[in-house]
Amino acid sequence: MSKKFYITSAIPFVNASPHIGFALEIVQTDTLARQHRLLNEEVYFLTGADENSLKNVQAANLLNLPVKELVDKNAAKFKELKGALNLTFDDFIKTSEERHVQGVQALWKACKKEDIYKKKYQGLYCMGCEAFLTEKDLVDGKCPEHLIEPEVVEEENYFFRLSGYQDWLLELISSDKLKITPNKRKNEVISFIKSGLEDFSISRSKERARNWGIPVPGDSDQIIYVWFDALANYITALDWQKNGELFKKFWPADVHVIGKGISRFHAIYWPAMLKSAGLETPKEIFIHSYVTVEGQKISKSLGNVVDPYEVVKKYGTDPVRYYLLKEIPPFNDGDFSQKRFLEVYHADLANGLGNLVSRIARLCEKSELKFPEQKSITLDSKVNTQLADFRFNEALETIWHKVTKENKRINEEKPWQMEKSDLQNFLLQSVETIREIAGNLRPFLPETAEKILKQFKGPEIKPEAVLFPRLENEK
Ligand SMILES: [Zn+2]
Repeated sequence: MSKKFYITSAIPFVNASPHIGFALEIVQTDTLARQHRLLNEEVYFLTGADENSLKNVQAANLLNLPVKELVDKNAAKFKELKGALNLTFDDFIKTSEERHVQGVQALWKACKKEDIYKKKYQGLYCMGCEAFLTEKDLVDGKCPEHLIEPEVVEEENYFFRLSGYQDWLLELISSDKLKITPNKRKNEVISFIKSGLEDFSISRSKERARNWGIPVPGDSDQIIYVWFDALANYITALDWQKNGELFKKFWPADVHVIGKGISRFHAIYWPAMLKSAGLETPKEIFIHSYVTVEGQKISKSLGNVVDPYEVVKKYGTDPVRYYLLKEIPPFNDGDFSQKRFLEVYHADLANGLGNLVSRIARLCEKSELKFPEQKSITLDSKVNTQLADFRFNEALETIWHKVTKENKRINEEKPWQMEKSDLQNFLLQSVETIREIAGNLRPFLPETAEKILKQFKGPEIKPEAVLFPRLENEK
């Protein structure tokens, strides 16, 4: 039986349309899913939409829309990224679906009895995070992630006894049984655990939840906390609640891909919840950083939200995938800028890869040579290693090193001046190199890779439409 690989993205709140930051996460996840399929593993790639957040309720109220209408509309926009970004997810779960509702309630009931208890509580709640914050989390009285003052909430809720899992979590993460990449995020999580874990509230009153979300089993006055609910998607989508085949085959997750703002929920709450319910914990969490736009944090109030549909319409799917994977470093924030996009597009895609392909195709046609059929291509071991470490940018550099080298070889050896037999040897090598490049591009730029592989399949090779036409510099 082939090895299995279960990979997930986070499920975003659907209070608005997707922005470029989520496009980064889902393209990274898709690249890994494609890589593992090429390694002949059995891959399951899950994404979805978190519809039960209070943020969605708030956004719908502002727009004077029924909440259901808003979340349906926005969830559809996330799901349709599949076409725009050429994604290969196997399932898209929405947390309002019946399978999820049942699964979350089943998870609640599966947790150890002594881990869930009711108490009166007063705390500072950040609606942006959908979480209670402590004084030590705040900077100048505000949530550092959302720059808003949390509201004081007082009510009787159910709590999860996280404090009981402190030593276990510390061991789980320090030993890499649950591996957290990159290391700096692992260290942040470890120091957070060492600072002392407090029990956390896992429900809210029906009134504060505006009656939106999943009711606590056996207590219809309480709604399950949105993070307890959302995290469960990783197992409810596999039909855990029905002891489903997908769950048996794919759990535990091999990689959860998430953004740095939600690491605490994934690295601390989630494994503790699973442990309490007697389930296995995920193997690895990859935590990416954020995309800024023209040097600034993405924010609705700044009006700098970049719509992935618009950039794809303007530049094409593969150029957008390329920019996100190559220019946004996996472990640090990176910038999306119009100027940089055009620079990278022209240097790497139009003049680099595109030019190489069209020059060689023209020479092949002129030479009237017949080329041997291509053998099956496996991913370069260096590219595989770099992807296993989530170093998407370095993996692309490895591939582009070949592009640059081959373009240089053409310039230096001037094949257009060669005698027929020299030209034949030259082109045989070039065609092999181009096939290798295209084979390695499959996880990153799938459409471009397929086009090149088809064009260079042999025996005859001839020019096709330009891969990356030059773009006008708008300004
Ligand atoms: Zn916040």
